[in-house]
Amino acid sequence: MKPLLLDPLFKNITVLTGIGAKNAKYFEKLIKSGKIIDLLWHLPIDFIDRRYTPKIMEAPDGKIATIKVIVDKHYPNSRKSVPYKVKVMDNTGFMDIIFFHPIKDYIEKSLPVGEEVLISGKIEKFRGKTQMTHPGYMLFPQKIEELPYIEPVYPLTGGLSNKVLRKVIKEALKIIPELPEWLNTELKKKKSWESWKKSLTDCHMPKGINYIEPEHSSRSRLAYDELLANQLALAIIRHKQRDLYGRSFAGSGILRNKILESLPFELTNAQKNALKEIKKDMAEPLRMIRLLQGDVGSGKTIVACLAMIQAVESGVQAAIMAPTEILARQHAESFKDFLDKAGIKFVIITGRDKGKKREILKQQIANGDAQIVIGTHALFSEDIKFKDLGLVVIDEQHRFGVHQRLALSGKGVSTDILVMTATPIPRTLTLTAYGDMDVSRLNEKPAGRKPIDTRLISQEKIEEIIEGIKRQIDKGSRVFWVCPLVEESEKIDLAAAQERYEILQARFGKRVGIVHGQMKSDEKDTVMEKFAKGDIDIIVATTVIEVGVNVPQATIMIIEHAERFGLAQLHQLRGRVGRSSEQSYCFLIYSLPLSENAKERLSIMRDTEDGFIIAEKDLQLRGGGEILGTKQSGIPEFKVADIVAHSDLLQIARDDARLIISKDPDLKSERGKALRCLLYLFEYDKAIENLKSG
Ligand code: ADP
Ligand code: MG
Repeated sequence: MKPLLLDPLFKNITVLTGIGAKNAKYFEKLIKSGKIIDLLWHLPIDFIDRRYTPKIMEAPDGKIATIKVIVDKHYPNSRKSVPYKVKVMDNTGFMDIIFFHPIKDYIEKSLPVGEEVLISGKIEKFRGKTQMTHPGYMLFPQKIEELPYIEPVYPLTGGLSNKVLRKVIKEALKIIPELPEWLNTELKKKKSWESWKKSLTDCHMPKGINYIEPEHSSRSRLAYDELLANQLALAIIRHKQRDLYGRSFAGSGILRNKILESLPFELTNAQKNALKEIKKDMAEPLRMIRLLQGDVGSGKTIVACLAMIQAVESGVQAAIMAPTEILARQHAESFKDFLDKAGIKFVIITGRDKGKKREILKQQIANGDAQIVIGTHALFSEDIKFKDLGLVVIDEQHRFGVHQRLALSGKGVSTDILVMTATPIPRTLTLTAYGDMDVSRLNEKPAGRKPIDTRLISQEKIEEIIEGIKRQIDKGSRVFWVCPLVEESEKIDLAAAQERYEILQARFGKRVGIVHGQMKSDEKDTVMEKFAKGDIDIIVATTVIEVGVNVPQATIMIIEHAERFGLAQLHQLRGRVGRSSEQSYCFLIYSLPLSENAKERLSIMRDTEDGFIIAEKDLQLRGGGEILGTKQSGIPEFKVADIVAHSDLLQIARDDARLIISKDPDLKSERGKALRCLLYLFEYDKAIENLKSG
């Protein structure tokens, strides 16, 4: 039950003075939930500084100023096309106040002749005269406290003015309760943070322009609150999943050693470390919940395979779940050698297996004959029962958010989980999305791979590139040629690829093929197959090159208008080459002019192949505010915290949260109760359902 104390914050915004029948719809557009708390989280993005109070003659052009004037004379407009002017003065001189499309009554009321008025707005110099167009404020001296010397500027939607929104937020601030403090006393003191209420109020009623900075104590306190709530929710999941239902799967090591000895290569140090971590997790009487991150080709498969064998050695079953049927079959292929060698029985089951065959497979899974099961999501359909499932490996986490993790964990009560992903996720984001998991990173390529030679080349030199390609394909290389998204439109996009295709075809004839998003998938497959077999040497593609396509002979990647791509995408595309012991190349073709950001992206690509570094830079360049694709990836969006600016706070929050849950797993202490309030504030009600009632 939500504490009563929080009630006012979860009321609908329409109870606030200032929101009426007329403007409610605009507010509802801006504040989707319609809750007062979300109105309060709607923080200013900028300030207007009105503190400069010069005399008329001192006021320089272009500056925002607040000036005390006496109204001298009105010059109403005779025609619509001319503005309404009001002449005002102080003891240094005169200035004009200008109104276009004037509302006469309002101007007369605001600026009565002979009265003293405080005006605030931008100073303009026009033909040697000082003037101000549409002042932001015109107030009589007795109303001076209504003037926001530092005026917060909010993100708005059409129909709402900043002034109206500000007024309503001020109303909301009046009703917020004092909440019990959930912060660690020492941390609060060290950071000089104020209470939640005071910090929130300061954010909306700033006393200096530095209040807008993410580092300002009012903002950083709220950001920390949000990050702590996020980490606490994850720590609760982790505790429930990991600590409460674990089994020990130590294994004998016999089969594993047999396979290790037969490997034709030496494991990389990163693989060895990951295996050590997994082995330890599985052996402990806790549940393993681990994320294995590594670029394509970093060697995740063998690591997963050895983990599954450890489960089998311990007398339980293991399963691996792939995102598509093709990938499931590919896994089966690559495991076969190892599993046969170890004498382990495995089956592969997908949605395609129907009728009698499916019955037999189901039986083998149910009676334990199948020691390892390879499949797709169909693995977890209701009709499949395992004899004793000890480990699940999930390939590709991005369709696998927290909710699916929770559903899966309901299935086999104490199943260890290993999630593999080829998407490098920056450390900070990993913490916010997978803070409940432990992480192993394969940040090293297997020995013997040559680095991809990446070069930045101007569009003007495209002829030279085509010449170069000719020499390379004569030597047996194969080439990807990617044409970018030119506009938002598929058609124009396609036209660019088509044009390039024709140019190359004129040169290389039948050795060129094209794939794009408008083709049917079997048409695409046919072209890709020809490419893989070597019937075609060059593939022109829009950005739709199928994920997971593996053509080791492809050694050249050309990306046109590379400046238009994001870092993550460039990295993904480049990953299609460099899969053999041959030297691979990536040519990033750019057109001038280049923005600073584009320049930086291209040079990062030239300088490193490390997906983790690229992901980290990508996050910095794009900023915490607009991380693309966060919805699909299960990475939460924050209301206050800025994942880049507040990354140091995230680390603290994580440690804080884990410590709290280790001491007070059901949040029953005084601080625990305050922390429950915090969880509600940030809508982690689900996490609270996991706790014993307080
Ligand atoms: P991932 O699944 O991470 O994309 P894979 O596990 O498919 O990568 O490995 C890619 C290729 O590298 C496979 O052919 C695999 O046999 C090989 N490989 C894996 N580990 C090593 C290693 N330590 N040294 C050499 N080759 C390796
Ligand atoms: Mg275990």
